[in-house]
Amino acid sequence: MVHIQHVDKWYGNNQVLHDIDLAVEEGETVCLVGPSGSGKSTLLRCVNHLEEIGAGSVWVDGELVGYRLRNGRLHELREADACRKRVEVGMVFQHFNLFPHMTVLENVSFAPITVKNENKAEAREYARSLLERVGLAGREGAYPSQLSGGQQQRVAIARALAMRPKVMLFDEPTSALDPELVGEVLAVMKDLALTGGVTMLVVTHEMGFAREVGDRVVFMDAGRIVEQGPPAQVLGDPQHERTKAFLSAVL
Ligand code: ADP
Ligand code: MG
Repeated sequence: MVHIQHVDKWYGNNQVLHDIDLAVEEGETVCLVGPSGSGKSTLLRCVNHLEEIGAGSVWVDGELVGYRLRNGRLHELREADACRKRVEVGMVFQHFNLFPHMTVLENVSFAPITVKNENKAEAREYARSLLERVGLAGREGAYPSQLSGGQQQRVAIARALAMRPKVMLFDEPTSALDPELVGEVLAVMKDLALTGGVTMLVVTHEMGFAREVGDRVVFMDAGRIVEQGPPAQVLGDPQHERTKAFLSAVL
């Protein structure tokens, strides 16, 4: 579903991704872990076409979402193509950024109606079903400020799902939450991964989640994939010194 091939990314003279190769199969949950500044968020943004890449290619469901040849000639996708492809990737951030002046139901149904021109009644109906799925049935009329952080993040997940994305990217979705609210968000993500068949690429520091829900754990450091494999292997028996050092610091 996602195919990242030989991707390099530079910010000015600073190379932040080095020859990244990563494939995520349909329905798979891949957890991306690693120290701060290792390039995890940048990699997600490349998949979401929020960043231009310096070299390599990124494919989502067999379609090229970004590439640049190694000789430096930039092949720009037409902006309309880029926008269309971006909506096929759902993203959930640390800070949920709901629209404060819209109700929960409006937050979830807004983009399908305005960006994808979905029928209003159908979009609202689907939004209701997604809100039920994230455990927020009955809160459709609430405003974000009336919800807890955990509830707001669950709305943000429903909002991303409402676009019927082919893959969901999560960038530290629980890092900004009070500790007692983390579990309810992880439970929703676990449900999507295990019973929803959703393809997910998740940046997280929640090693319990990675171990229990991840099909694969990928450890990144300094812009490189250092090692990857089944959670029990990478988290329980890491092979590289940098992975060992990171895990002993977070576990
Ligand atoms: P992580 O998510 O693993 O903490 P990031 O992808 O945010 O890492 O950052 C990787 C590197 O890229 C860091 O050195 C960071 O300072 C740099 N970086 C990230 N975003 C930008 C940007 N917009 N401009 C310049 N440098 C950036
Ligand atoms: Mg980050």
